[in-house]
Amino acid sequence: MRQWLLGEFHEKCAYCERRVGRGQVDHFMPMKLWPDRANDWTNLRLSCSDCNTKYKRAMNGGNSLDRAQYREPLDPCAPAYAPRTHLWAEFSPQSDPYGAVRLLPRTQVAMETIAMTGLHLNRAELLSDRAVKCGRYRSDSDRLKNLRHHEAAEPALRKDPLHQQKKRDLLRRLVYQRGDCQEYVGVLRLLREARAKA
Ligand SMILES: [Zn+2]
Repeated sequence: MRQWLLGEFHEKCAYCERRVGRGQVDHFMPMKLWPDRANDWTNLRLSCSDCNTKYKRAMNGGNSLDRAQYREPLDPCAPAYAPRTHLWAEFSPQSDPYGAVRLLPRTQVAMETIAMTGLHLNRAELLSDRAVKCGRYRSDSDRLKNLRHHEAAEPALRKDPLHQQKKRDLLRRLVYQRGDCQEYVGVLRLLREARAKA
């Protein structure tokens, strides 16, 4: 079962997108309240120990919610789930390429989910990992943009093999960083959209 989850979730935590190693099997609807879903595959998530043990389980086990009070949380694995609808990424400060990227709820249900599960999506190690990942992406895409500007100003570069090779290499790196298997790719996609709008 763990092996299946590792493949299904690209070895990343379903909640914070961190690489998990062996990972933990998380019951999305808590086992304590939904024992009937303990073996339901659609209720299982691969999770890091921080999200599962430190936050989610502690919260669910430590509070006195019963089944009727437990409102259906936002499910990151639901087919219709679109992160941008429920979360926004605060890239601050905008001028600092290595600035922290904080994920904040933008809908009521996202706010409730975070409060109810106790997930800590802006803990220090996530902020610094995201900053590195987004910083690398920003710098590669800025370099590609510059090469394209140069080419527009100097059409001879279109036939310069070295220039073309540099462009291809950068493009390949950007596509690689946007791959489903990469850590924090959800955040990176939000960054990409924010940059496209800017
Ligand atoms: Zn996690």
